[in-house]
Amino acid sequence: MDVAIYPGSFDPITNGHLNILERALDIFSEVTLLVAINPSKKPLFTLEESMEMISEAISSWPQARVDYHDGLTVDYAREHGIRTAVRGLRAVTDFEHEFAMALTNRSLWPEFDTVFLMTKAEYMYLSSSVVRQVSQMGGQVDQFVPKCVERRLRQKFGHA
Ligand code: ADP
Repeated sequence: MDVAIYPGSFDPITNGHLNILERALDIFSEVTLLVAINPSKKPLFTLEESMEMISEAISSWPQARVDYHDGLTVDYAREHGIRTAVRGLRAVTDFEHEFAMALTNRSLWPEFDTVFLMTKAEYMYLSSSVVRQVSQMGGQVDQFVPKCVERRLRQKFGHA
């Protein structure tokens, strides 16, 4: 059962996320990137747009899939018989939140565990929110995100 899910908002997916995914694929035979629908967040991209961008961004990895889920990650995992989640850690600031979430998920389903991969140094300061802000103000984001995401961001913010 060496399959895993990689849950997150991915609003939008960045090269930091893709690096974690690529490295997770060295450990697991199949990884599903799970777009989590969070009712308390108002995403920039619709679910459909996110799914399209992610599908295109992961198309060169046959063992990577994308799906979405509206509800608890552990419920999705249990339904699909997946007992491992992958998450990325950038800095100590990520740690507390990730730690709480991993422990909560394990108390919801004791067989469920989370594997953390440290960011690659060059992606340490990269987040979806920074990408959204830079792009909204007309800055270049091509070094941070795949081509398909850069194109959509330009369309979204009306930059030619
Ligand atoms: P969430 O809203 O669930 O935190 P994100 O899409 O922001 O969703 O992030 C999903 C996961 O990817 C988190 O574990 C986050 O720490 C990790 N992540 C995000 N950006 C990077 C990055 N640049 N390098 C490594 N991990 C990252």
